[in-house]
Amino acid sequence: MKKVRISVMFFMLSAGMFTFTSCGGGEKPTETTSTEQTDAHETRADENANAVTLEIESNDKMQFNLSELNVKAGQEVTLVLKHTGTMPKTAMGHNVVILKAGVDIADFARAAIGAKDNDYIPADSQDIIAHTKLIGGGESDQITFTAPEAGEYDFICSFPGHYSMMKGKLIVE
Ligand code: ZN
Repeated sequence: MKKVRISVMFFMLSAGMFTFTSCGGGEKPTETTSTEQTDAHETRADENANAVTLEIESNDKMQFNLSELNVKAGQEVTLVLKHTGTMPKTAMGHNVVILKAGVDIADFARAAIGAKDNDYIPADSQDIIAHTKLIGGGESDQITFTAPEAGEYDFICSFPGHYSMMKGKLIVE
């Protein structure tokens, strides 16, 4: 009789522990799953809202087709530059160079003239937020960068003599 009682108590104890364990174990996977789903959803939404693609054209008449590029601070910006002309880049090369706040356009353009071997981008320049490569007629290039803090930033083509006509503003909200 004694042995039976002990066995029963053991069984009840084991059953109780099992129930407790299975309850705790049952809740955890549910919580983890719902958390993961929420995170994944938020990340996707952020990526969509936080990325933008802009396109700007240049031509054989030394012109950009836009004088303003509008983005939001922190946005991942993809900028596409197209050259709709036919002239080679040695004669009518274009790029887009976005300058940091406070950089003097004329000073930068002067420095760029001396950087012909580097597509008119002064080596190790600290004045640039982002720039495309230099392209000729029929070519295109694209760059991706993170928009800086709110403000207005100058962009130019740094090919010698072009900045007086080929300039505009990156406007960051
Ligand atoms: Zn140009």
